[in-house]
Amino acid sequence: MKNDSYILVVDDQMANIESLGESLADQYDVRFALSGQSALEVIAKSKPDLILLDIMMPDMNGYEVCRVLQSHPDTAQIPVIFITALATPEEETQGLDAGAVDYIVKPFNPSIVRARVRNHLALKYANDQLRVLSLTDSLTGLANRRHLFERLSSEIEHLQAKPETEPFAIILIDIDYFKRYNDTYGHVAGDFCLQRVAGVIRSALRSPADLTARYGGEEFCCLLHQATLDEARQIAERISQSVADLEIPHLGAYERQFVTVSAGVAQWQPHMAHIESVLQAADEALYAAKATGRNKVVCKV
Ligand SMILES: [Mg+2]
Repeated sequence: MKNDSYILVVDDQMANIESLGESLADQYDVRFALSGQSALEVIAKSKPDLILLDIMMPDMNGYEVCRVLQSHPDTAQIPVIFITALATPEEETQGLDAGAVDYIVKPFNPSIVRARVRNHLALKYANDQLRVLSLTDSLTGLANRRHLFERLSSEIEHLQAKPETEPFAIILIDIDYFKRYNDTYGHVAGDFCLQRVAGVIRSALRSPADLTARYGGEEFCCLLHQATLDEARQIAERISQSVADLEIPHLGAYERQFVTVSAGVAQWQPHMAHIESVLQAADEALYAAKATGRNKVVCKV
């Protein structure tokens, strides 16, 4: 069975790469690097599904490569199997301590290498799936609250580390009179309404660096990477208009008769100490939008 998993083999000896390649190339997309440094460059461009890593290499050894990968959230999930002539229990322990999932001693047996690679790939895919599920809101497919807070704290950590701050803004969105919607049309229709509004919010994203999340019941949040308050306001206005354009009937919405949203927009300020501060600011703006008639966007300045 041909599998399109991408396996990176890192070894300073071409002969080792060739023999590993022969064992795996019929099943996987096998690529190689001849040093630790060039491996890191290859990985930065395209993330492998699994790495077979030699330890004894000039300049940067395998332990160091493994530690660098472990220290970055983007690469920490890639399984690393050491494949090395270093055979003492101390060396093997050191390899596993550096973060490797497995350790194979040369000379290797090709069928054992194939079996271990297959097993670790299966584990990796199961872990990837679990991670996606644990970060996704199952009803809307948007990011869930956990994912939102993870991203928000890493974004703000990044901003706080930078002396010359880039802009960063968030939007909080709430469906107007949603409780009345559920009371009028029932929860099945309510769920469908949430999904349609989520679809509008998702399509307002400008790039993968932005994030849209379901914040609570009928509340959504957009994190807008490198966006000024004014850019965020324009995005919020577009969302508000697009939701109104859906013309989802809502007899409980008083004179408007259709589903609408209110939105609060805030920009992160360097004096803000916590991630809650920017959420708080957006929440105040959202409250002002609700208190002054709904179906509108208010910015916290
Ligand atoms: Mg070597």
